[in-house]
Amino acid sequence: MRTRFAPSPTGFLHVGGLRTALYCYLMAKKTGGQFLLRIEDTDQEREVEGALQDIVESLHWMGIAPDEGVTFDAQGQITQVGNKGPYIQSERLSLYKQYADQLLAEGKAYYAFDTVEALEEMREQQKRNGNPAPKYDAGVRMTMKNSLTLTKAEVSERLERGDDYVIRLFVDPNRTIECSDHVRGNLSFKSYTIDDQILLKSDGFPTYHLANIVDDHLMEIDLVIRGEEWLPSYPKHILIYEALGWKPPEFAHLSLLLNPDGSKLSKRQGDVAAHDYSDKGYLPVAMMNFLALLGWNPGTQQDVFTKDEFIEQFSIDRVQKAGAVFDTKKLDWLQGQWVRKMTPEQFADHIRSTVVAVYPQAAEDPLFTTRAQLIQDRLLFTHEAPEMMQFFYTEPVITLELLVNEKQKVTAELLPEVQQVLLTTLEPISNEQWTVEYLKEVLFAAADAHNLSKGQLLWPMRAALTGVLFSPGAFEVAAVLGKETTMARLTRWL
Ligand code: GLU
Repeated sequence: MRTRFAPSPTGFLHVGGLRTALYCYLMAKKTGGQFLLRIEDTDQEREVEGALQDIVESLHWMGIAPDEGVTFDAQGQITQVGNKGPYIQSERLSLYKQYADQLLAEGKAYYAFDTVEALEEMREQQKRNGNPAPKYDAGVRMTMKNSLTLTKAEVSERLERGDDYVIRLFVDPNRTIECSDHVRGNLSFKSYTIDDQILLKSDGFPTYHLANIVDDHLMEIDLVIRGEEWLPSYPKHILIYEALGWKPPEFAHLSLLLNPDGSKLSKRQGDVAAHDYSDKGYLPVAMMNFLALLGWNPGTQQDVFTKDEFIEQFSIDRVQKAGAVFDTKKLDWLQGQWVRKMTPEQFADHIRSTVVAVYPQAAEDPLFTTRAQLIQDRLLFTHEAPEMMQFFYTEPVITLELLVNEKQKVTAELLPEVQQVLLTTLEPISNEQWTVEYLKEVLFAAADAHNLSKGQLLWPMRAALTGVLFSPGAFEVAAVLGKETTMARLTRWL
């Protein structure tokens, strides 16, 4: 299947848009097809600088680079690839005009010359008549200034004079439009609810409706996946396909993403830009995992998926109709899963530069991978790594407050004895024997022999070695620090 993501560059890419793009990508890959990125910039007034770059960057970041359309070249510059381009609508204006003219010639569309004031008056009149949703349709078209009511000569004269005009689709009000949607099933719309929509605007630009259909047809799109805000446009699009004599692609309209309180996902309640999540340090694989499961599930208990597993298992027909809650707790959980999945070497590489930026000596540390291992189970973001590894690269500040612990029954009075037991137990151990297993064996025995609980012995030991409340366990830390450093820190704690 050929699928496309067709954003308008009117702002940064929203996480909802990123999910839509991901579903398009997965369907294309699943079927051995192509995923296209087309830029729909027909509303030039709403265009935002940098938006195009942000869209392309976000897709590349998550590993769903387009096969065709707008993408980055090897130098990281925006480029277009594929033989159905250009893929930026403002570069295709003459094409849209050509199809609008064709519809005019066939009597399926007409010129309308109404002024802004006349349109306003038309709406007011309809409202006064009790119509809450006024529109330019069969009910009023014969009362307006258009090529259905003006003579041929008048129309030509106006066109020659350069009067402003739009081209509207002629919609038969007596139709029932039947169509189907992969998420919503069979749908039916009455054509009298639809206006004679504008196809070409007075500035010569097409509307979204015309451009979208011309492009989906010429770019040979098989499946359109887009947000449910476009559902009301669906019957309009069917009518345009029909007027042009083209077979429409298949459609899937995705439900909205929701805040945990059930409201529409909004900036007020959290970050909504795709780049917010890359900036925060989420792994692209974790983000992909999270987004794919927003509104889709495989029908099994599986939560953690690789891209290939998604490609294999994803199906658009299993996408749910209900809105999906954007629950960042689940995202954090998935982030943790993906961090744990790294090999020790991958994990060390993942955090190295962040740690080195704070502790330059880490760059030359032959034990870096081993040391990094101690924090792999607890880290979510690379920016946490320097603090979590600080006790390897700086001498910890050990306070009495840190050493005592009510829950573990470690009192200030007990500390000299604990220190004594630790030092005398550890002193005879050779460097070769200095392993997690051996330290565990002798220290557990020492605790028993001195009538201390494990916590009474190990809490102060761990605290004295790290200088922090939370860290890996005493044995792991001691083993990685080595005997010399361990003994030095335990000696100078009091
Ligand atoms: N340009 C539309 C948007 O910005 C695309 C809708 C569609 O995919 O048809 O959402």
